[in-house]
Amino acid sequence: MNKKIIVIGAGVIGLHCAYFLNQAGLNVEVVESADECAEDGCSYGNCGLIVPSHFVPLASPAMLHSGIKMLFSSKSPVYLPLGQNIGSMSWFMQFIIASNRKKVNKAIPTLYKLNIESRKLYSELSLQNQNRSNYKHLGLLMAATTEQGLAEEIELAKKAEELGIKTQLLDKSAIKTLEPDIDINVTGALFYKSDGHIRPEAHMQWLKKYLSLNGVVFHYHTKVNKFRHQKGKIIGIETNLGLQKADEFVLAAGSFSAQLAATAELKIPVIAGKGYSFDVPKKCMQLRTPLILTEAKVALTPFNTSVRFGSGMEFNGSIGEIRYRRIQAILDETRKAFPEMPETKANTLKIWEGLRPITPTGLPLVGRTVKYKNLLVATGHAMMGVSLGPITGKIISQLILGEKPDFDMDLLHF
Ligand SMILES: Cc1cc2nc3c(=O)[nH]c(=O)nc-3n(C[C@H](O)[C@H](O)[C@H](O)COP(=O)(O)OP(=O)(O)OC[C@H]3O[C@@H](n4cnc5c(N)ncnc54)[C@H](O)[C@@H]3O)c2cc1C
Repeated sequence: MNKKIIVIGAGVIGLHCAYFLNQAGLNVEVVESADECAEDGCSYGNCGLIVPSHFVPLASPAMLHSGIKMLFSSKSPVYLPLGQNIGSMSWFMQFIIASNRKKVNKAIPTLYKLNIESRKLYSELSLQNQNRSNYKHLGLLMAATTEQGLAEEIELAKKAEELGIKTQLLDKSAIKTLEPDIDINVTGALFYKSDGHIRPEAHMQWLKKYLSLNGVVFHYHTKVNKFRHQKGKIIGIETNLGLQKADEFVLAAGSFSAQLAATAELKIPVIAGKGYSFDVPKKCMQLRTPLILTEAKVALTPFNTSVRFGSGMEFNGSIGEIRYRRIQAILDETRKAFPEMPETKANTLKIWEGLRPITPTGLPLVGRTVKYKNLLVATGHAMMGVSLGPITGKIISQLILGEKPDFDMDLLHF
């Protein structure tokens, strides 16, 4: 098939779309505004967790409740700047409407299935790339520091078991057996064997190299300014290097997708949710298994020589404005659970900032647009872009090939 597909955005979503389209024998080009070597985008400094355990969408009654409480603390990871515009206010209204039990219960099986299929694809990809992505299937500890927090995790684990996810309740001594090199001061943890992790930078570099060697053409330093359209079809994209034409277009520009879609009079309800990460040397924290401190909302991923901390949700945040007070709170909360960790000042760390693309339903948007028959959207993966990258790419390639993905696609539409 000689069809030409342009993928806009070389983040973890765009690259997996390019991968599966290339595997299907299509002619693929990727257009990316950043440099080939840039590693500052959202798909690089994240925590790399692959999480079938996270089957509840972000828009849920529990998240709404804890999120609102957190908004009122200057040290919490959740931050909403004052003076939101009308577009953002309408996004928040949609988020509140979506945060109801009925909608959440409907979304859970699909989100779980997407995650589990994606994790399987990661293990296949890691075989193919001789594990250059550093894929590991070590599970995830959801650790609670309070009795109430643990009770909430136990309730969630019951739902997980109903879906077929194996969980294990660990007390302090069982945690010690799993983590013999470090003292962890928590009330207990739920262990999800289902989960895995990668080193995101390594996976992204491998994908870019593999795709280039296998015929995908990359246009770096190429910013898409506008879609050009005519009679219900996208005829091209206007970039700083001129007009580029193709048969089909995949919009995978992460948190920038909404502003680009607006140039084709398309409304995509995606806003940016900024998060932070930083790495501490392994010698300061001898953690073996990825762990999330559930109340503090801090994720810790052990890599070969360091542990990555990830946290923060600043709605409509922008790059360059680091809130050290909130990062210090992340460090202080983590030290309570890991008393052997050396005291660290936030402003001495190398902080990475990433803009997650967030939808008001907490589910990604994956599918063909109704308005333009040759435009597909793959964005809004929020805290699960890495997790869901491969399955998103596979679904996009199936849609372009005219196949029917085995998922409730209505849930992923907008
Ligand atoms: C602190 C933190 C921790 C996280 N941890 C995890 C985790 O453990 N597991 C997980 O699954 N997810 C995690 N995430 C979420 C994950 O990182 C995101 O969901 C994912 O990176 C989004 O990928 P994307 O490809 O949609 O967007 P991006 O990575 O933002 O890629 C979009 C690309 O499009 C390009 N672009 C934008 N506009 C244009 C334009 N006009 N023209 C051309 N190119 C353009 C951008 O330069 C960019 O390269 C985390 C996020 C953060 C912030």
